[in-house]
Amino acid sequence: MGNYVVVGAGIAGAVIARRLAEEKNGRVWIVEKRSHIGGYCYDERSEDGILIHRYGPHIFRTDSAKVWSFLSCFTQWHDYQHKVLTNVNGMNLPMPINLDTVNGYLGSHYTSENVMEYFERRRTHPEQIRSVKDVVESQIGPEFYHAFFEKYTEKQWGMPCDALPPEIVARIPIRTNRDDRYFTHRYQALPKDGYTRMIANILSHPDIHVLLNTDYEAVRRAVSPDHTYYSGPIDEYYDYRYGKLPYRSVSFQFETLPINRYQPAAVVNYPNNYDYTRITEFKHFYGRMVSGTVIAKEFSHAGGDPAYPIPTKENLALYEKYAAIPNSSVTFIGRLGAYSYYSMDQIVEKILDMEI
Ligand SMILES: Cc1cc2nc3c(=O)[nH]c(=O)nc-3n(C[C@H](O)[C@H](O)[C@H](O)COP(=O)(O)OP(=O)(O)OC[C@H]3O[C@@H](n4cnc5c(N)ncnc54)[C@H](O)[C@@H]3O)c2cc1C
Repeated sequence: MGNYVVVGAGIAGAVIARRLAEEKNGRVWIVEKRSHIGGYCYDERSEDGILIHRYGPHIFRTDSAKVWSFLSCFTQWHDYQHKVLTNVNGMNLPMPINLDTVNGYLGSHYTSENVMEYFERRRTHPEQIRSVKDVVESQIGPEFYHAFFEKYTEKQWGMPCDALPPEIVARIPIRTNRDDRYFTHRYQALPKDGYTRMIANILSHPDIHVLLNTDYEAVRRAVSPDHTYYSGPIDEYYDYRYGKLPYRSVSFQFETLPINRYQPAAVVNYPNNYDYTRITEFKHFYGRMVSGTVIAKEFSHAGGDPAYPIPTKENLALYEKYAAIPNSSVTFIGRLGAYSYYSMDQIVEKILDMEI
């Protein structure tokens, strides 16, 4: 038994609320400042019935049987293998880089056996890895860096790659075969009726109460729960006392088009042309047979809703200062509470593993 406040009705807030209601017999009040549940996973149907991901394409994948079976209590699944193409020199080539990307771009005839020789020959050997440019060029060489990564990364982060700290990018996967799936996890699917429905099902419990259009700031002094779980930005919770944690934001230009198909895959990246980074065509997700289509052009910028933490050493140190503030009445959860880019499955796993 106990009274709990959960801030945010995204996937983090929903999973912790369910656990509190079921495992602690708690009464849970969720305050959500938006007019809808679901947080960044929110989806809704277009006039034609196509499920649109309002905050960018969300593909569920996980290697965790525990996460999969937990979520499977709240949704059925639609089998889906995500594919991403990158538009370079007018060609749509598979991403991550695979054998077809290499041969398509170079007009070559490499095979699985010898394609790595190309990268071995072309990769650079900087004395010190100082920037994103060094990280990527040292793995795939200047040509592929320039054609596939440089401008895309610059659009994403709003800075030249040679000034971006190396910790922003990870290893660049190179597939020596023709596998063109974006993810290779054990489980990959979309909730059959969408993320919003799945999250509504998680929240559907007599002891969970959701208050939409309610900013925690407006109620925090009026409530005194046994414990608070906070999935908003940790720096905002502490009134930015050490300064603001920087984020990149994304926004979307949606277009409904009277054509059957706009592009050959759900997502096409545009590294070198246009101001947007990528276009998503939502119809590919569920293969819905309707005559029109809906696309979203995605733009990265500073100064909107926080989407991607910027994991430089300075920013992580600032986050650590916030995380170190002693506070036994609040637990920070979710991507904003941890100032980390977590995928949905990572969020669910962390919350399922948490002691409550
Ligand atoms: C463009 C983009 C694409 C992504 N694609 C994928 C993908 O393909 N696959 C994948 O697994 N993950 C993806 N993710 C990550 C995924 O969105 C997150 O893992 C997940 O949404 C995090 O859930 P959360 O509950 O922690 O945060 P959120 O979804 O952000 O939920 C937090 C909620 O708290 C509310 N809130 C914040 N402050 C307050 C306050 N003061 N008062 C009241 N309410 C408040 C917010 O309105 C929000 O609803 C993507 C993320 C982005 C940005």
